[in-house]
Amino acid sequence: MNGTDKLKRFLFELPSQSNFKFGKDVRQQIRKALFLAVSNEGEYLNWLFPNAFPNNRDYNVDSMIDKVENEYEWLFANYYKVNLKRRDPKYDTHNHHAFHANSPCARIFRKGEPIYRCLTCGFDDTCALCSHCYQPEYHQGHKVHITICQRENGGVCDCGDPEAWVKDYFCPYAVKDDESLNTRNTKMPSDLEDSFLRTIQILLDYVIDVMSQSDAQFEDPDEASQAQVELKKITGSLNPNKYGLENIDDINNEKYYLMVYNDQIRQYRDAVQRIHLASRKVKNFAVMVTEKVQNYGMAKVISSNDIDLLLERQKILSATGLASCIRSHRDVFREDMCDEILNWIYTLTESEMFKTNNSAKNLFCSAFCGKWNSGLLVASSREYHYKVGSLDPTSKIPKINCNKKASSHWFFHPSKWNLPDDICQECDYNLTEDDYDISKSHLGSRLQYLIYLDVRFWKSIRILLHDLYSTSLITNLCYKNIISCQYVDIYPTIADMFLTMDREPELNIMCTLSTQLFTCPSNSTSIVQHGDVSRIFASIYGFLTVEEIRSPEEIEITHEISMKSLKNRRWGQIFFDIGYILSRSRDSKSILTNNIIPMACDILALFQGRPVMKREKKNHVEYESPDYTAFFHAISVIYQFGEYIAHCLCNLTDDDLRKSLSKNAINYVIGFLLRLEKNDYPGLIDDSVDVNLSNEKGISKEPIGGNIIQHFRIDEEKVSFLHPIHSFLSWLIELSEFKSPSELAEVLESSKNTACSNQRMDLANPLTSIFDYPIRTIVLMSQIKSGFWVRNGFSVRSQLQLYRSTGLRESGYMRDLFLTQVFINSNSPNLVCFLLFSRWLLMDGWINDASDQEELIYDSKTLPYMLEECMNFFIHTLTEDLYLRGLKDEVVNRIRIKTEIIHNLCFGAMNYTKMCSQIPDHITSEKRFDIILTEMTNFVPPKGASDIGVYHLKEEYLDEINPYYFNYTTNIKDDAIKFVKERTRKRIRKPISEIVIEPKLRDPEELGNFKYIGNFSASTYFSDFLIKTLMYIRKEGTEAESLLETALHLIHICAFENTIDMAQYGSFYDRFVNVSDNHHTSIAVLLYEFLCNEEFKNHHSKIRYILKVFEDKYHTLNKILGEQVTSFDQFKVDLCTNEVGDENEYEKKKRIAHERQAKLLAKFKKRQSNFLKKNNFETVDGSDIEMEDYDEEFGWRFPEPHCLLCQNAAEESPFGIMTYVTKSSEFRTVPFDDKYWFVKSFSDGANLDKYEDANTEAKSDKWKSYMHKVKESNVIGPGFSNQDHVDSKLVSVSCGHGMHFSCYMNFINSRSNQIQITRNTPENIEHKEFICPLCKAINNSFVPILWTSNNRSLGKFLTPSSGNVFENLSPKFLHDKEWYEGFTKSCKSDVEKLSILSPIEKEAIFSDSESDSLRQQNFKSSLRKMFQILSCLTFPQLFKPDGTFILANTIKSLEISLRGICSKDQLLISQLSNKSLINLRSLSEFRNSSVLMKMNNWLQAPNPGNEVYSKSLAVLLSLSGPMMNTSIMESDFLETLVSTLPIPSAGFSFNAILNTCLIGHIIQSLNIIVKELVNHDQYRSSEFSILDIPVIEGIDSKTIKAVKTIFKKLKLVHDNAGDEDQFQNDEIFAQVFYSMLVKTTTPFLRRAAIYSFVQCANYENVQISYPDVFLEADRLSMFLNVKLISEYLNLFVSQEKCYESSIFNNFVSYLKISTRSSPDQFTIKELEYPGIVKLTELPDRLDFFFTKYYYSDKYNNPHMSIEDPAICLFCGEVVDIQKSAIGCNEGQCTTHYLKECANDVGIFLLPKDRGLLLLHKNGGSFYNAPFLDQHGELPGESKKPKTLYLMKARYDDFMRNVWLQHNVPNIIVRNLESVMDMGGWDTL
Ligand SMILES: [Zn+2]
Ligand SMILES: [Zn+2]
Ligand SMILES: [Zn+2]
Ligand SMILES: [Zn+2]
Ligand SMILES: [Zn+2]
Ligand SMILES: [Zn+2]
Repeated sequence: MNGTDKLKRFLFELPSQSNFKFGKDVRQQIRKALFLAVSNEGEYLNWLFPNAFPNNRDYNVDSMIDKVENEYEWLFANYYKVNLKRRDPKYDTHNHHAFHANSPCARIFRKGEPIYRCLTCGFDDTCALCSHCYQPEYHQGHKVHITICQRENGGVCDCGDPEAWVKDYFCPYAVKDDESLNTRNTKMPSDLEDSFLRTIQILLDYVIDVMSQSDAQFEDPDEASQAQVELKKITGSLNPNKYGLENIDDINNEKYYLMVYNDQIRQYRDAVQRIHLASRKVKNFAVMVTEKVQNYGMAKVISSNDIDLLLERQKILSATGLASCIRSHRDVFREDMCDEILNWIYTLTESEMFKTNNSAKNLFCSAFCGKWNSGLLVASSREYHYKVGSLDPTSKIPKINCNKKASSHWFFHPSKWNLPDDICQECDYNLTEDDYDISKSHLGSRLQYLIYLDVRFWKSIRILLHDLYSTSLITNLCYKNIISCQYVDIYPTIADMFLTMDREPELNIMCTLSTQLFTCPSNSTSIVQHGDVSRIFASIYGFLTVEEIRSPEEIEITHEISMKSLKNRRWGQIFFDIGYILSRSRDSKSILTNNIIPMACDILALFQGRPVMKREKKNHVEYESPDYTAFFHAISVIYQFGEYIAHCLCNLTDDDLRKSLSKNAINYVIGFLLRLEKNDYPGLIDDSVDVNLSNEKGISKEPIGGNIIQHFRIDEEKVSFLHPIHSFLSWLIELSEFKSPSELAEVLESSKNTACSNQRMDLANPLTSIFDYPIRTIVLMSQIKSGFWVRNGFSVRSQLQLYRSTGLRESGYMRDLFLTQVFINSNSPNLVCFLLFSRWLLMDGWINDASDQEELIYDSKTLPYMLEECMNFFIHTLTEDLYLRGLKDEVVNRIRIKTEIIHNLCFGAMNYTKMCSQIPDHITSEKRFDIILTEMTNFVPPKGASDIGVYHLKEEYLDEINPYYFNYTTNIKDDAIKFVKERTRKRIRKPISEIVIEPKLRDPEELGNFKYIGNFSASTYFSDFLIKTLMYIRKEGTEAESLLETALHLIHICAFENTIDMAQYGSFYDRFVNVSDNHHTSIAVLLYEFLCNEEFKNHHSKIRYILKVFEDKYHTLNKILGEQVTSFDQFKVDLCTNEVGDENEYEKKKRIAHERQAKLLAKFKKRQSNFLKKNNFETVDGSDIEMEDYDEEFGWRFPEPHCLLCQNAAEESPFGIMTYVTKSSEFRTVPFDDKYWFVKSFSDGANLDKYEDANTEAKSDKWKSYMHKVKESNVIGPGFSNQDHVDSKLVSVSCGHGMHFSCYMNFINSRSNQIQITRNTPENIEHKEFICPLCKAINNSFVPILWTSNNRSLGKFLTPSSGNVFENLSPKFLHDKEWYEGFTKSCKSDVEKLSILSPIEKEAIFSDSESDSLRQQNFKSSLRKMFQILSCLTFPQLFKPDGTFILANTIKSLEISLRGICSKDQLLISQLSNKSLINLRSLSEFRNSSVLMKMNNWLQAPNPGNEVYSKSLAVLLSLSGPMMNTSIMESDFLETLVSTLPIPSAGFSFNAILNTCLIGHIIQSLNIIVKELVNHDQYRSSEFSILDIPVIEGIDSKTIKAVKTIFKKLKLVHDNAGDEDQFQNDEIFAQVFYSMLVKTTTPFLRRAAIYSFVQCANYENVQISYPDVFLEADRLSMFLNVKLISEYLNLFVSQEKCYESSIFNNFVSYLKISTRSSPDQFTIKELEYPGIVKLTELPDRLDFFFTKYYYSDKYNNPHMSIEDPAICLFCGEVVDIQKSAIGCNEGQCTTHYLKECANDVGIFLLPKDRGLLLLHKNGGSFYNAPFLDQHGELPGESKKPKTLYLMKARYDDFMRNVWLQHNVPNIIVRNLESVMDMGGWDTL
């Protein structure tokens, strides 16, 4: 028995052998069987797992099977995992998946990945490259367009597909070969080929066997019965003979499942409820089942052997429409098997063998394309009628019903496809015509079955199959043609399922197959040639007319359309498919000659003249049918359909062929239109088409030429906007490229004649009646714009809007204008004008002096608008000539985009989104739009954190503005006129009134056969119209000035007479000077009259220009005027502009005043926007409290006691501010074990008060290459993941707002009562949190403000005291009573002196009253409150609220947040915001005062006074004598400094304390550095050495020497071996060592400076700027009056005995002793992180996350395990936001930041959502990510997916102002507050 027979039996018997229980073990059994079958019983397992069995070792079959079974559990995934560990992922960027030698890449674009489209290299816009195949260097200077894929499957990479590219480019993966892969391109052994092919065939057959019987889910549950369920079981039985077995039944147990299926319509909640009811199990079960349905696609609800019970439950389940069915256990088991089998096949196609072996790929396709070999038992002989989605009783694929013979142009003649014979033979396909017989079902290929049965598969398999088709089938170069043919064969039935039955339309197979197959030109060409276009057309035509898919022969032509079908949006897909086929086909001739144009006209006709409307004259329409939206939504694909067909003309290179084809086409279309006009078309209904269907049509006769036109009144009869057949005709005419007007006229004329002779046409003027429609539509548009249709309500306006300003514009309005131009160009001016003015209703009647109101069609309000519209129409006719010039498609497109950009950007710079909102979508969505925009503009990128980028139009394009641009509204037109004139004025310095906008004229030769579009101006009707208009203006006076402007511009254009056929029709000049019989005046005379009228002064120049044009040309104008005008004054005409001179004084003043006003306005606007910015929560710049000015006299002030709650200034209760005490984790220490972070720690500049990039310290090459390598191999980060080196410390944050203590207590109590009622609140009451009523900041503490103002002198504070009191301090003083008393006395008086308590408080404290005053009680209780909160936060440790650790931490934290910000040559104390100062000074005074109170026994404590003194003394003692050594080992000297109260009168000045603490800090740092360097040998040797750490420049040699000595001394202590260190004598090493020390000491000095400034606000006479001192540390030392670091170092090793050297030497000897006794104790203190503290580094482009990490196998394909990634910006870890962590209910994000990460708030980047997620305690919120698109804007929800670039300024701003300033909780709280009213935060 061979392996494949074994496989068959296995498949047959597995259900019964497993007892119908499907589990994990069954899945593994299946995989084992499949692997064995495909590898010829294990023989070729080494081909499938190449790296597991290297060539150089021998494996026998059994050992290979063993290994795959035991190590990989028959899973490729496990094999990859093992492989991955073996590879070094850091240096191996790509793997075999990217290579695609000799075949297309076919990599699927996944969500978030970039799609590169090179418009230069690609065949068309759809050809795309993946990030591997796109190599920028090979596309330099090309037009490249990048989008970000928004779908999970966004198509595949076309690299390597010869049809996709017109230009060669280089792809490294198409050619390069990875030698390490041993299977690449080796020939497969023939028995492996055999087993491979046979296995796939058997498996596919089996899957089809099972699925062909799985259709019960589509049946109506109401009709389900026991008999039916049992019948299904029988038909599902397999034929044992086919499966290599005999005398055996396909056994079943008597049990059934009730199954439920997914759909995209119903709600999740509804499903849960239904399943809950049907299963009668617990809710959690229902949720679980629903989850499975949603993710997997189907699920079992219950199981039973009682079919009736199941039927009853099914009714409950399906009551709201959920799909369900009852199916036997065996058959469900088999479906589960199919799931495992298909998953296995998919992983096989992703395997190395498949990816690297083209013959495996071909065999695979061959298996799919071959016929299905059915293994079913039952084939009934029931009668069959086609039913959507079903197979016929013999399980063949049915055809759409066809019982008729073709009777019209709708037909399909079956024929064989043009395919290579060998492939057809191999697949047993296309050998005869039988399979295409339109009336018979056929046995399809496996692929056809899989496609046909696609809707029956569950969601996860559908997705998987489609991916598999994309990557492995339809991109195969040998098989893609046959696959396309097989797909097209069954296309109508697939379309039927898609349109009418698919519950998951977004997952439909068409979306994958059609685009990929039909965009391929060879496929499209063969489809056109094979005639299948008719079948596709018939499908959609049948659907749109009679709501069912039809075969061509069954089509009944009609104009009736089904509204129900029309509203089903899905059918657009069919037109996309048609569009691809028509536009990609290389056989244009077939398209233009077959039955395609007649069928297309039938399809277009369905939309012709619809929807119809009629003007309401009397009544206001309240309700209108919304049906019109269905038409307008549909019409754009319909237009495009027409355009594609017409475009085939462009592909014909043979001129004569094109002429004859286009002539035929135009012929047919004109005949078709005339049939409609004659009511000679089936299904025309009067109500639904804008054609007059009556037999008697009224006619009007034009008086001069005697031309006849139809009588028609737009205001009284039916009209419509949409005429797709007309648009189609217009494209045909445009693309025919006729050479002369007469040629065009001839074609039109002969078309008319053929049509008339064929159809005995008796229409009055057939051609005119066709061109009538576009004219009517344009007039209709103008009437609606002018408010003439107001009674018709809203829909009329929206139709206008859609027609004129959206994507329909190009196919609707622009086509109508084009056809009008064609008409004007080819007909007599009198006919043209008569028709035009009749339609405009401006023929006559309107100028009469309103004596007869009835005759006026337009009322006096509407009339001027209509006149304006009409004149604009003539202007546009003459100037909008884009489509008249016979330009190539691409050029037209380019000009269109250019023109829009110019006309929208000309008024000033704009950001991208705003500009796009002004330009129609169809223009901005052009792939070339951005490229052209870049060419035409200067882009100013954003600089600051809240900037966005703006585009400035380049100066040269400003000259191209045409103020009469057709897309301008009247207002914008006026602005544009002003703008252009203003620009000219600046150039030629003339007054505005003298400036004339000259028409831009085109050389008529450029217009080719459209060179006579100006003909109309030679008509008397036209000149009469102008005369009437001018008379009207004269009558209305200056009211009608803008009308005059337009009229003059129109006359001006006409005056050039360059587009009139003068030989035939005469000149415009004749009409200009001609005195009208009706009006007894001429245009010339009227213009002269305006010239004499000072009211119209502003237009005089324009008039003179016009007159000059004529006079220059004819030299008779003045003479004629002299005759026509009595007392003609030629001077008025000639008045040369120069003589008027420069702008007069008045105008100049006016201009200056205007400019001044504009400036004021701008200033106001700026202030306004600043205000808005400030009040926007996104920009938390921390200064919502205005910086208060220093008051010279009183010093710095605490916040005034303005209570937010009671608004009272004064009250008995103390006033205080709210603060938030919270843990924060920006405190880091240097992780010496982490190579990268060690280097990084010391690589930031020594000057922390400079910008990061101002760091000038030289970096060695090794340093650079190391950093580069780390960045390259880490897409994100590396994050600071050393949790042991992160400290969370309590810090205080304050918004600075305040209230009374009693008000505060009331507020908290009421708030917590209130919160018990509502459910969800942002603050946590248990943690005593509350929200500032003013700014909504979160708070949990109250700090009383008992102080007036801080005017302590900093100068005094920093003054050094004489002598060193610490030198002699010794513990024995404690017992010296006299000394101690002196000490307490000085202490008491110094503390009192320090106090700045307000007088009331002072009085309260010093009063001797026995009982507690109210003040005292309040103060105490506020202390108690604080203590409670602190205990909450620090439990089990307890801290006293008046302790100094919060103050010290807050100072540290503030210092960290200021690192890397330039202090502009001042010390950092100038950088402190007032808000920080309020916070710190309140804390500091609180502490000062509580000491004072204790000394005065105001606060209860056992002997409080003494406690103060002994404590102070204890701290001082720790800084002296032997205690100092332990302090150096353990203490944080900044904390010591802050906690030590200076007692200057006892000699313990601040300066003395600081000096000692600094020495302690320096020695401490030296010791840690030396110890760590000694312990970390690796810094010497690997990729970089310690010598590569950047050093400070210009260290003097003396210091170097001292440093060396210090290092030697300390090293000896730590390194007992004492071998001579190769570095310790190195010059550079000493520099490094010194630099490290300076960098660790600088933060200490900065903090000390902050502390001193917090204490003393008055910095008079203190130098705070040291511009000449290079090192910040030195500047701070000078400011603080201590020695420089280098000086200390020199003193440490100085020969002379001094205080510094004694401390150092004592410490060294102390170390020697203690290391010997207990060497392990040196782990206590760590080195604080000296550099700039940041969040994780982010990639420069967001999509790098996806390409380089998320979808990369280098990291073992994170996308397989993480569905929705979230990057922790603190540690760089990537977690899944959707999934909850194992064992908890919270999501992984929450778990991560709460439990895994060292951070105290959660800050995550969500790459798929392109945003940040902030989490804190019980809430979360989204925040803008610091990424901007290439236009410098944030990615909006609705915007096109763009590449996003990291905006450093934004990220820095976020890190400083949000993270480091502890604003994350505030942002969350504010967001929650703002959405609370809307129902809470449930977006996650
Ligand atoms: Zn690719
Ligand atoms: Zn490639
Ligand atoms: Zn290119
Ligand atoms: Zn109050
Ligand atoms: Zn506040
Ligand atoms: Zn983390």
